[in-house]
Amino acid sequence: MDGPALRQATDGARGRAAVVGGGPAGLAAAISLANRNFSVLILEKQASPTPEAQVRPRSYVYGINTRGQWALDQMGLRRPGQEGEEAAEINGLRIGFSKFGRARKGGPSKIKRAKALSTVWAERACIVDYLSNEARRQHHDRITTQWGCSLLDLNTLSSTVTYSTAAGDTRRDSFDLIVGADGANSAVRAAMHRQDPQLQVTHLPARRRYKPFYGLKAEGDWVPAPPQGTVVSFITAPTHLMILWKGPADTVSGLIGASEHFMLQPRTKQDWLQLLETYHPELPSHWMTSAAEQLQEAKAARAASSVKCSYIVQSRTVLIGDAAHACTPNMGQGVNTAMEDAVQLAEAIQACRYDVPAGLQRFQDERLPEMHAMHQLDLNVDARYGMQGKLHPEFLVSMATFVFWGTLTKIFPQVQLPPTMASNRASVSFQKVVASIRAHKAAVGAILGSALILLARWVVLLSLQGTVRLPGLSPA
Ligand SMILES: Cc1cc2nc3c(=O)[nH]c(=O)nc-3n(C[C@H](O)[C@H](O)[C@H](O)COP(=O)(O)OP(=O)(O)OC[C@H]3O[C@@H](n4cnc5c(N)ncnc54)[C@H](O)[C@@H]3O)c2cc1C
Repeated sequence: MDGPALRQATDGARGRAAVVGGGPAGLAAAISLANRNFSVLILEKQASPTPEAQVRPRSYVYGINTRGQWALDQMGLRRPGQEGEEAAEINGLRIGFSKFGRARKGGPSKIKRAKALSTVWAERACIVDYLSNEARRQHHDRITTQWGCSLLDLNTLSSTVTYSTAAGDTRRDSFDLIVGADGANSAVRAAMHRQDPQLQVTHLPARRRYKPFYGLKAEGDWVPAPPQGTVVSFITAPTHLMILWKGPADTVSGLIGASEHFMLQPRTKQDWLQLLETYHPELPSHWMTSAAEQLQEAKAARAASSVKCSYIVQSRTVLIGDAAHACTPNMGQGVNTAMEDAVQLAEAIQACRYDVPAGLQRFQDERLPEMHAMHQLDLNVDARYGMQGKLHPEFLVSMATFVFWGTLTKIFPQVQLPPTMASNRASVSFQKVVASIRAHKAAVGAILGSALILLARWVVLLSLQGTVRLPGLSPA
């Protein structure tokens, strides 16, 4: 049964919530619910709150866009990386972004130092660390964390959770609300499925692949002074992207992300070396050999998988974050929508005057269509990473859309970006983005079609005047 700390914490609380999983979604849910006077027990399978980066040489970085920043605002947390800050440390969240830009083949890359950023980049461990500190600082009497816990059973009808503790005990407890925030391979979701086989879950592995490297010595003016977790650079090349960040013990870690097709091409260490030297000549030369060796040896890992659930609420149990809608990192939405879910869940419960089942129903009605729209977008983007070459019609249309709107908004800055290209904005719903993609595909198709007809007409006219000779057409 629950320990004295939790019993004490429930005094005067609106209700008791169990949050399974202490990642970004679980921590944001705990803070949002504690802000509304719930007493929260977080069950986390990791043995301790030690940031991953200190125990594992590799981690990865995420960008907190305006969706995530909106969620932090709603939780009452100070938003990191406000305008003008290049790197900072706020309550343990190391943020910053030293260089970013576009690599040019064989020439000097277009790499700038970041100034004002709308997206804040940080290593996952730093974000989790930041949220844990905030949970402790603001709600030490409302939020309790049980580390090293494994979920053994969940009965959604009686809202009873059975789990084993780090000490090896088995505990069973009932809650007013159970939040499944235990990631893409959610045990809570599996328990919901066991209780209702009608719950449909689609699981699709991402086609984008990653290869990591780490342990490069952080010295020289390429690496900024700020502490571990800071993103050193984010550089895109036509074929791949490369992210570098400051890892543990004053080292630099990095990864190359690309389509599965691309990842098969460099075969030897020499190929990787050539790729780095061609696209990233600005990198310190003493990093090249070590990075190339590691890239050659590393197995190209799948980025993540995409999950779609037919529903997310069963009685008093609800799924949020990756458990409800894992998406591939292609759109950079995972951590942002995870925190957005948590805030919207607490808001829905509050809007229903703390009637938990009604609040969960409201949350599902509002949020599930958004989750499904995001899944649709995710599949569209991920499809590009599985394409063989750049002549795929989907790829051409999406690039044409990008170039068309990019050019238009450069020439006429007053033109608003279509929602298609603004899915990072908290104010734009994913459903709107999906609808707008349909509309813009048709518009871009019509514009491209007309341009092709005009071009063909022009070529034929010129050839008839004798300026261009086409096979089979003799000048008049
Ligand atoms: C390579 C890579 C790059 C990414 N890049 C980005 C990016 O740039 N931007 C972005 O927004 N997102 C990115 N993502 C996605 C992002 O990691 C996730 O969307 C985000 O972490 C979701 O948070 P979550 O809390 O729902 O799940 P998770 O972060 O997976 O956290 C789940 C937590 O639950 C715990 N847990 C699991 N099972 C149990 C159990 N049975 N009992 C108790 N605890 C359990 C885990 O230990 C973990 O702490 C990336 C993902 C990958 C893999």
